[in-house]
Amino acid sequence: NRRVVLKRYVTGFPTEDDMELVVAAAGAVTLAVPPGSRSVLVKNLYLSCDPYMRGRMSKHDDGSYVQDFVPGEVLTTFGVSKVVASGHPDLKEGDLVWGMTGCEEYTLITNPESLFKINHPELPLSYYTGVLGMPGLTAYFGFFEISKPKKGEYVLVSAASGAVGQLVGQLAKITGCYVVGSAGSDEKVNLLKSKFGFDEAFNYKKEQDLNAALKRCFPEGIDIYFENVGGAMLDAVLLNMRNHGRIAACGMISQYNLEQQEGVRNLLCVVAKRIRMEGFIIMDHFGAYGKFEEEMVGHIKEGKIAYVEDVVEGLEKLPEALIGLFHGRNVGKQLVAVARE
Ligand code: NDP
Repeated sequence: NRRVVLKRYVTGFPTEDDMELVVAAAGAVTLAVPPGSRSVLVKNLYLSCDPYMRGRMSKHDDGSYVQDFVPGEVLTTFGVSKVVASGHPDLKEGDLVWGMTGCEEYTLITNPESLFKINHPELPLSYYTGVLGMPGLTAYFGFFEISKPKKGEYVLVSAASGAVGQLVGQLAKITGCYVVGSAGSDEKVNLLKSKFGFDEAFNYKKEQDLNAALKRCFPEGIDIYFENVGGAMLDAVLLNMRNHGRIAACGMISQYNLEQQEGVRNLLCVVAKRIRMEGFIIMDHFGAYGKFEEEMVGHIKEGKIAYVEDVVEGLEKLPEALIGLFHGRNVGKQLVAVARE
C-alpha cells in the first residue's frame, strides 16, 4: 500500500520535500476489515488536492476547524473510492463512494457513515472530487445561501478559473447576474470568457492597480464578491462594493503561506456601505448535499455547466500537484488519478 505521509510540520510555502511517498512493508498494513467491525476497506481511485490542506500541514496549538495532519502519518483528503470489503450493512463490495479517505492506494475507513454513495456513475467519477463533490457544494452553498444573489446584480469571483470559482461564475450567470472573474494567467482569463461564459475577466498579475481594474469592470460597483483569495484583492474590492453588498468569505489563499497575515486597510467600508461579510465552512453544510447533487447533475446533463479539471496521473504526483495550487499551476480543479477502476 503506497501512501503519501507528512514528513514535518510546514512553515511558509510547502515544498515536495515536506511530504514523502512511502511503501508500507508487507504485513505492516492490514488490507482487510477486522472481524466484527463496521469499517469499510476502499480502493482509492481519485484524490482531491484542496487549498485548505495547507492549513492542516501546520501545527495549531489553539485548534483549527479541521484536524492537523500528523508527521509520519498518511495525509487525508476527499476522494472517490471503490469498496473492496465491507463490515457495514449499507455498503457492499463494488459500491462507489466519495468522502474523506487517505492519500494512499487502499484505506480502511473506520467511520463509513461519513461516506456518500455515488448516485450518478454515468458521469465521470472524478467529478465527485469537484463539481459534484466538496468544491461544487461550496460554490453552490456559498453563492446561493451566503451571497443571496438577485437577477441583474454585479458579481466578482476571485480565483475564478479554479474548482470553486468556475462554478460560482456559471451559477451566477444562470441566475442572471453580470459576472467578472479574476485569475492569474491569460490562459485562465481566456477560459473564463470562452468556456465558462463570464461577461468579463482580468489577469490580476498584470494589473498595476487593482482598484482601477475593478472600476473599469464595475463602473457601477460590485453587489457580490465571492472571496477566494484575500489580501490586496479584498482591499481593492472593499473600495468598489455597493451599499448593502455581500461578501461570501469562502477562502483567502493569498494568506495561507504567510507567517503573519496581511492587514486589511479598507475595512471601514463594511460599515459605511452596510456590507454583510460572512464566512462559512462547507463541512458544516453537508446536509445540503442531496438537493445540490440533483440540481448540479441536471445542469451538467443539460449542458448548462461546463467543467474543467486538471488531472495528474499517479499517487507519487500528489505532493507536486498539491503545492501547485499555491503557485497557480492548476488550470481547473486539481486532482490525482490513483487508479481508474
Ligand atoms: P483553486 O482550484 O482555485 O486553486 C487555487 C488557485 O488559487 C490557484 O490556481 C491560483 O489561481 C489561486 N492562488 C494561489 N495563490 C494565490 C495568491 N497568492 N493570490 C491570489 N490567488 C492565488 O482552489 P479551490 O477552488 O479548491 O479553492 C478556492 C478557494 O476556496 C480557496 O481559498 C479555498 O481555501 C476555498 N475553499 C473554501 C471552502 C470552505 O468551506 N469555506 C471549501 C473549499 C474551498 P490563479 O492562477 O488565478 O492565481
